[in-house]
Amino acid sequence: MKLNFQSPKGVPDILPQDQKYWDFVSNIVQKRCQAFGFDKIGLPIFEDIGLFQKGTGINSDIVQKEMYEVKRLSDEPDEDHIRYALRPEFTPGIARAYLEHGMQIRPQPVKLFAYGPVFRHDKPQKGRYRQFYQFNMEVLGAKDPLIDSLLLLLIWQIYADLGLKNEITLEINNIGCKKCQPKIRKELISLLEPLESKLCPTCQSRIYTNPLRVLDCKNKSCQSIVHTLPHLIDFICADCKKYFMNTLEYLDELKVPYDLNPFLVRGIDYYTSTTFEVKDNADPNKLTSLGGGGRYDNLLALYGGHDIAAIGFAAGMDRIIEKIKTLEIKVPSESKTDIFIIQIGAKAKKLALNLIADFTQKNYAVSCAVGKDTLSSQLKAANKVKAKYALIIGQREIIDKTVIVKNMTEATQDTIELAELEKYLNIKLNAGN
Ligand code: AMP
Repeated sequence: MKLNFQSPKGVPDILPQDQKYWDFVSNIVQKRCQAFGFDKIGLPIFEDIGLFQKGTGINSDIVQKEMYEVKRLSDEPDEDHIRYALRPEFTPGIARAYLEHGMQIRPQPVKLFAYGPVFRHDKPQKGRYRQFYQFNMEVLGAKDPLIDSLLLLLIWQIYADLGLKNEITLEINNIGCKKCQPKIRKELISLLEPLESKLCPTCQSRIYTNPLRVLDCKNKSCQSIVHTLPHLIDFICADCKKYFMNTLEYLDELKVPYDLNPFLVRGIDYYTSTTFEVKDNADPNKLTSLGGGGRYDNLLALYGGHDIAAIGFAAGMDRIIEKIKTLEIKVPSESKTDIFIIQIGAKAKKLALNLIADFTQKNYAVSCAVGKDTLSSQLKAANKVKAKYALIIGQREIIDKTVIVKNMTEATQDTIELAELEKYLNIKLNAGN
């Protein structure tokens, strides 16, 4: 069949049979975040393009190549003359909301989490989409190694709850602060300049615009050059070194396992100090990232705030779910149908309609098989949706004012008077039978 429309490239549908995975991940994130005192925040899907240009960074691939602009079809200019972009990540929106809603006056730090779709024009392939989903945690308004290590504990607990504890490696680094980063850049430029001809074209162009990014180039020959360079820990200032050591000490105390990666530099411009990434152990080259984050102590100043320190983390939910599926991790898939109504005959059909109206009103999940009239075909349909109870109404039941209630998991059944039906089901369904 030739269809007129398909979902856009790199924008997969999330089908009903996959919803249980999404519920599983978002329930764990929500539960864990709340245990750590994070509040949920909802943000616009599109924002002022400048928010990302200034924050994510004009030199980042995300802004330069991957961001989608949102335009109205009309030629009439908008009253505010602002250009908008679909959010390619959450952090800039959360930083904006923190400032816009005066969250500086709340007890600090403010801890927020969010999840939902983000948009980047990536090359579509498995694990790489143009609309994908992230969950995101941010701690704004304070800087302390304790905050960094507790955020990493939260992240570690989430992956453990997801069943991925042995599947991931938490890599960590410190890329310096506002004070030492200009010096680090200078040092790196002088080290990289003589090696320029041996680097890939992207790294060649980055030597002067963003030399830190050369350190995490995925190109093998760039990596072999980079690995001969001194480690960032040798360049960062004494304060950053102390901060890093304290963070690692606390992680040891919390028994959060980590690997030091002296070349870990994330692809977003605002990062400073602590940076980290969750790598997929199944990838021997450790290039597949299941999540990443770090401090961004200078971002809020760019948005008009003053020196407000912050740290955050974002994970790719699509990739995590693919991993859960590959590993065949069992996720809860509760039956959504409490009651399946089976009717035989015209009078039974009318009673069925009334029961559907009654029980849905009382918030039970009710289903029936439209267009199927035999008992066996309707029972088959009840089995297919994994209904907890089937109510069977035939001619005999209409005459007797009764209903047969079949427990679908135990394959037992009772005949119940219509007047007693609600009470009976109430007890059974609420007892979890
Ligand atoms: P980032 O915001 O770039 O730090 O990415 C955070 C996480 O989002 C990554 O670790 C990936 O798991 C996920 N991610 C990034 N880009 C994509 C993409 N195009 N498709 C699916 N997941 C992605």
